[in-house]
Amino acid sequence: MKYAIAVVGSGPSGLYVADALVRQWPDASVDVFDALPTPYGLVRGGIAPDHQNTKAVIRALERTLARDGTRFFGNVEIGRDLQYDELKGAYDLVILSVGAEHDRPLGIPGEQLPEVYGSAAFVGWYNGHPRYRNLNPYLGGASLAVIGNGNVALDIVRLLAKTPTELATSDLSSHAAHAIANSSIRDLYLIGRRGPVEASFTPIELAELGELQRCVTLVDPAALSATVGAHVPEKEIKVRQRNLDILRGFSERTIDAATMRIHILFYAAPSSIVGDDHVRGLLLDRTRLEGGNALRTGEQFELAVDTVIAATGYRTVSPPGVPFDEKRGVIANTDGLVEDGVYASGWCQHGPRGVVGTNRTDATALIKRIAADLEQTPRSPGKPGGAYVDRLLAERAVQVVDFEAWRRIDAAEVANATHPKPREKFVTTEALLDAARLAH
Ligand code: NAP
Repeated sequence: MKYAIAVVGSGPSGLYVADALVRQWPDASVDVFDALPTPYGLVRGGIAPDHQNTKAVIRALERTLARDGTRFFGNVEIGRDLQYDELKGAYDLVILSVGAEHDRPLGIPGEQLPEVYGSAAFVGWYNGHPRYRNLNPYLGGASLAVIGNGNVALDIVRLLAKTPTELATSDLSSHAAHAIANSSIRDLYLIGRRGPVEASFTPIELAELGELQRCVTLVDPAALSATVGAHVPEKEIKVRQRNLDILRGFSERTIDAATMRIHILFYAAPSSIVGDDHVRGLLLDRTRLEGGNALRTGEQFELAVDTVIAATGYRTVSPPGVPFDEKRGVIANTDGLVEDGVYASGWCQHGPRGVVGTNRTDATALIKRIAADLEQTPRSPGKPGGAYVDRLLAERAVQVVDFEAWRRIDAAEVANATHPKPREKFVTTEALLDAARLAH
């Protein structure tokens, strides 16, 4: 069927969906939109810059974007350059894969202080996301706390602990590399409101904290008496056990000659961020677990810290007009269906969980669902698709970054890097658009 299909978002979710769509309907034209001039979403802007192997998935995503019948519309934001209703009018099917790019507030007093950051902003800053280029997080104190026990929290403490030599082969943005190299932070606190068994770390990432050149990772052995209990899902048991083993290894370490320390604290829920004009500390409630849930015991303690980063999850900001589920922070949907002809996939559908590959499984399931819906309620192709959108965007003088233009940005970023750095990202929209315009 010659369906005209729009996919909004060119991260792993959108591109795995684009791939699955073409497999299902080889004649379909698939137009992939992104608000940024660059594709690949969190693979470019989220995955840690020192995890270049994980970023290699870009090669597969690129094949999807380069395929005949698939077009990239970079620098086109739905709600700014093109409206949701126009999209629905132009395409037979619309798939929203806009991710969950914004920080979920912690909701505690002191959160508005200037040295408090959400992980979306902080990760965006070190990864050269244009929105966060000017975040300039305060790294001039002695101590920094990262709240949350997920992989994002691990990424943040690891990057802050690494030396310039350890980061040399990463594509950490230069402004962040400079700030991290000049940071005076010596103590990093990684804080979980539940225990070691409940942490959502993956073992490979956790073990990396044991391999840092100048930093030792410490954990109180008393916090590790937990066993993998009944509330842990069967498929998670091995991973949680492995995490416990790694943490036990950390608990046997001493400070030695390390110049930096990562302290992993469990059973500590943030109560408030202390300080009048600036962060002076973090007040925490000790917790105990009941049925896997953290209950505050009433006992409190304060950590003297100068900067706080909340790595506690993300929420979706959906394009104007798209039905939104405020409570869950995702696009309102029933198993992916948003409304007639419109579907959601990935983090904007089910919230921020899973790794890159999870999107592939999700995409296959969604396309199966769409095919079943179309069998039940057939829909003839016939909407104008990209040709109509081209006209609208030209009338509005939008500089669309197509796949070839993205290739020019890509080549320029690679050319601008000094070996062994793989690329030097452009970190403003203007610079990206300039590079997109340049001829080879
Ligand atoms: P996550 O794994 O859901 O971790 C969020 C953490 O924040 C949890 O420890 C959670 O505790 C805690 N939290 C939430 N609200 C809190 C509050 N009000 N106070 C204190 N703690 C709070 O999410 P993530 O680290 O943001 O990662 C998102 C997804 O990306 C995950 O699926 C992750 O695996 C994936 N990712 C993977 C990699 C990798 O594979 N290398 C790297 C980065 C991200 P509770 O558990 O108690 O709710």
